[in-house]
Amino acid sequence: MISVNTALEHLLDLVSPLGVEEVPLAKAAGRVLAQDVTARREQPPFAASAMDGYAVNKAEVESHAMFKVIGESAAGHRFDGRVGPGQAVRIFTGAPVPEGASFVVIQEDVDRKGDLITILDQPGGHNIRPAGGDFKIGDVMSAPKRLTSADIALLASMNIPQVPVRRKPDIALISTGDELVMPGEVPGPDQIIASNTFGLKALLENLGASVRILPIARDEKPALEAAFNLAKGADLVVTIGGASVGDHDLVGQVAQDLGMEQSFYKVAMRPGKPLMGGRMGDAAMIGLPGNPVSAMVCGHVFLKPVVERMLGLPDGTTIQSTQLLQPLGANGPRAHYMRAVLTADGITACDNQDSALLSVLADANALLLRAPHDPALTVGADVSYMLI
Ligand code: AMP
Ligand code: MG
Repeated sequence: MISVNTALEHLLDLVSPLGVEEVPLAKAAGRVLAQDVTARREQPPFAASAMDGYAVNKAEVESHAMFKVIGESAAGHRFDGRVGPGQAVRIFTGAPVPEGASFVVIQEDVDRKGDLITILDQPGGHNIRPAGGDFKIGDVMSAPKRLTSADIALLASMNIPQVPVRRKPDIALISTGDELVMPGEVPGPDQIIASNTFGLKALLENLGASVRILPIARDEKPALEAAFNLAKGADLVVTIGGASVGDHDLVGQVAQDLGMEQSFYKVAMRPGKPLMGGRMGDAAMIGLPGNPVSAMVCGHVFLKPVVERMLGLPDGTTIQSTQLLQPLGANGPRAHYMRAVLTADGITACDNQDSALLSVLADANALLLRAPHDPALTVGADVSYMLI
């Protein structure tokens, strides 16, 4: 059995960053910027007022100074003239500061009578945003980067209507098992609802993949072959279940019959031991264990970095440490990804670590990581975890 890290290296070797496509700015949120984008304009494009007030020459600003208002500069409509000595221009937020002016007195700091204003108190800041104060021509938004709402606003301001992003990974999900039916269907007496298929779809789509749930494959070779056929064109084919060594576990065999070059099978981890990975034509293939929690944990530990690599991003998983709030017995020979609850005080492993319990997974917000053969731990021990 190989270690989690070795398995992850094998899986990352199966994929590479996908191609680039241009999408409209309004569709770019959450996508991964694939090429550096350069500002072709500066913002603001002129010195602009930060407040509603009066534009004057800074040298004349003092308590009780008086000015004659000679015109107005509004956002979108500049004042076409020069502000001379003793003169002021009524100005509004976002409007160009007229020539000759170098200070905006906010309207609360003046007393206006007709065309005359008098400064009441010595004002503070100049209230002018310099040209290019936000960004300048040639300023770069660097790739790769998952685009946040703030990035989208910045790109819009840079006047980038089409954004170069990584193509979304096309992932086909195949659930296998005679016992499975889809949510909403009426299960027979010996059947259960396919659950982790939907959990994985949610997890993968959140990461930026485009996920197809294929019809459930029965535990027979022709059904699995048909499912793999439907998966054609995908960048990554993920099977769920049927990967152990039981009589009905046919995934590995059928995949290999269809040309899958298996790069490994079985990982020294708990949950998730029966994991397989390989190449199948143009696609990467990952076979996940069927137990719902195993599948979801493998989703966090393996599928997430694989999707990130396809998107041209570095592995974004961060392992942090905190203190243990309960004693834990020694760990066995496999790395243990314990469902756990992280609070401000530290971390507690959930009582029941059975890999079939989705309710426990839903209560957990972290996986407490225990290395193979980790000795028994006492309260207060420093432990590693990843957020889920
Ligand atoms: P298997 O790896 O096929 O032996 O499946 C292990 C366990 O996971 C069995 O109890 C299956 O019923 C269950 N299982 C497999 N696939 C799914 C699925 N998509 N949703 C929920 N449970 C599943
Ligand atoms: Mg099965």
